[in-house]
Amino acid sequence: MIDLHSHSTFSDGSDSPEDLALAGDAAGLAALALTDHDSVEGIDRFLAMQPRVKPRLLAGVEISCTYLGRSLHVLGLLVDPGDARFRARLADLRERRNRRNLEMVARLNGLGIPLRLEQVLAIAPSCLVSRVHFSLALTTMGAVSSPEEAFRRYLGDGKPGCVPWDELPPGEAVRWIRDAGGVPLVAHPGRFAGRNFRWEEAMLDLRDQGMCGFEAWYGDYGPAEERYFRDLAERTGMLPSGGSDYHGTHKPGLRLGRGRGDLHVPDAALRDLEAAQ
Ligand code: AMP
Ligand code: MN
Ligand code: MN
Ligand code: MN
Repeated sequence: MIDLHSHSTFSDGSDSPEDLALAGDAAGLAALALTDHDSVEGIDRFLAMQPRVKPRLLAGVEISCTYLGRSLHVLGLLVDPGDARFRARLADLRERRNRRNLEMVARLNGLGIPLRLEQVLAIAPSCLVSRVHFSLALTTMGAVSSPEEAFRRYLGDGKPGCVPWDELPPGEAVRWIRDAGGVPLVAHPGRFAGRNFRWEEAMLDLRDQGMCGFEAWYGDYGPAEERYFRDLAERTGMLPSGGSDYHGTHKPGLRLGRGRGDLHVPDAALRDLEAAQ
């Protein structure tokens, strides 16, 4: 059993990279990838745990993109975290995010919530500040009673406090990941659009843009969704990947390797990804 999608305190997960590696060990994983949003800053600390744990620890990233006017996440597995150009590119992307975060504070202020950016930054443990940190700040200040309520009322896609931002075109993310020696994959396509979407056409378009595969296994998929995306991988000749999208306590109920209970990503998936590197 492997898990190729997880988050640490270097994006919007609650576990430090060290704790994440230990949790992967305790879960009995054969391999675990750290894939923080728009950042590889936690990877060195994660990989430094290798002598202390059994699972193979792998470098990764999850890049925020926009495709067809909607948010699409692109995973870069097996990237070189020491690649200076890659790190600079990701730092630029985080700058765009920071500008959006300022707008989001203004938007919430306009809704009568006196949130200040400093309150959000105080909650974010690293240089990556996402809506998850906004949801925690809104809860701490008492504007909502839980992070879930914050997403439901203000921060979820299309809600009044959510500001879309200038995310990357997927083809550009593919180039960055390839330049850094990694394998580009579409993260959780089932969360971008359901099975009724014209996935065949969209996935072939993304394949033409250099995408090697996509997540056919995912912590939050139901059995029918998993079957659909495994079939789609066969039909398109793209590689199936998968993971839990573990965020620690920031996404309750998602366990490393196991997702909501019946996730099982086969070890063979990683061998195929390494061959595509
Ligand atoms: P951002 O990258 O700042 O737009 O924030 C996106 C992150 O917020 C995702 O990676 C999820 O972890 C989280 N998120 C997005 N929508 C929801 C939601 N409806 N409920 C809970 N968490 C969410
Ligand atoms: Mn997240
Ligand atoms: Mn994602
Ligand atoms: Mn993720």
